[in-house]
Amino acid sequence: MLYLKTDEEVALLRESNMLVSRTLAEIARLIKPGVTTLYLDKVAETFIRDNGGIPAFKGYGGFPNTLCTSVNDEVVHGIPSGYALKEGDIVSVDCGVILNGWYGDSAYTFPVGTIDEITKRLLSFTRESLEAGVLEAVAGKRIGDISWAVQQKAESGGFSVVRELVGHGLGKRLHEPPEVPNYGRRGTGPKMEKGLVICIEPMINMGKKETMQMRDGWTIRTVDGMPSAHFEYAVAIDKGKADVLTTFEFIEEVLNKM
Ligand code: MG
Ligand code: MG
Repeated sequence: MLYLKTDEEVALLRESNMLVSRTLAEIARLIKPGVTTLYLDKVAETFIRDNGGIPAFKGYGGFPNTLCTSVNDEVVHGIPSGYALKEGDIVSVDCGVILNGWYGDSAYTFPVGTIDEITKRLLSFTRESLEAGVLEAVAGKRIGDISWAVQQKAESGGFSVVRELVGHGLGKRLHEPPEVPNYGRRGTGPKMEKGLVICIEPMINMGKKETMQMRDGWTIRTVDGMPSAHFEYAVAIDKGKADVLTTFEFIEEVLNKM
């Protein structure tokens, strides 16, 4: 059972996802060596509440914070802490909000200062794999078409796709059907229709695809200790072309000035 949203509901979801986009841009301003992930979390929570939203992750399944901050070999679901970012790190910042009862959910992986060439390549391939998935997110196609496109792009760079975690539907709940895997075969899975809203969120590893969960019950890490990147958009399915409800433009305006 897939929930199809009306145009009015998609408009509300766009507002929620724009708040996430603006929150991530606030975080972009602060990312530099010496900043703790817990500080980023506090700024995000304040910004979301000041704009009439509620942090969606805080308390979700017992998660303690507003952001998931996942550094280097942490894939996703990292818990903000007193860890101070250092030159050459990458940090995935995943943010969720509830605004007017509708969820926003998006993630961006930031470089901290100068990062090495292979890590830059991991970030650009992960980002491009997301964009490749978006091109397939069209009414009449199937979820497997997205999965296939993401996997092809990521593996063409020599990188590997995390299997254990997937994208999802989004609406009045953070995780709705369908699951949106980042690997798979064309022409398989549920058929997409106008009004379906999904999060596409490739998690791409520099080394091997295997991951493990830490004893904190949340943080997912690569087994081989190599870095992992994560970018996430919320998109509304439409005829001909996906309607992307997230924008990275605010983030990139900030990063281009730094
Ligand atoms: Mg998500
Ligand atoms: Mg997310």
